[in-house]
Amino acid sequence: MEAVLPEECERARARASQALDCELSQLERAHLRSHLDSCDSCATFLAELREVTHELRAAALPAPSDLASPLHSLRFSHPVQETNGRAK
Ligand SMILES: [Zn+2]
Repeated sequence: MEAVLPEECERARARASQALDCELSQLERAHLRSHLDSCDSCATFLAELREVTHELRAAALPAPSDLASPLHSLRFSHPVQETNGRAK
């Protein structure tokens, strides 16, 4: 069950996941950070997202040192359960 989020929060969360995939520009990161400073709920969201992503990465990484995008390697090696951690 999720409460309806303010648009600002929606955007911040979308950015948060992009940030974890290294897809944000510095400017976007700065915006995200300033939002997190003023929004506990998004800050918590990001902290949780970061943990889940870290676990996924740890499980998924075949140790490529020269892949430009972590997201790419995730897709490439596919069999990580995307539902992992998202279900609750
Ligand atoms: Zn927020």
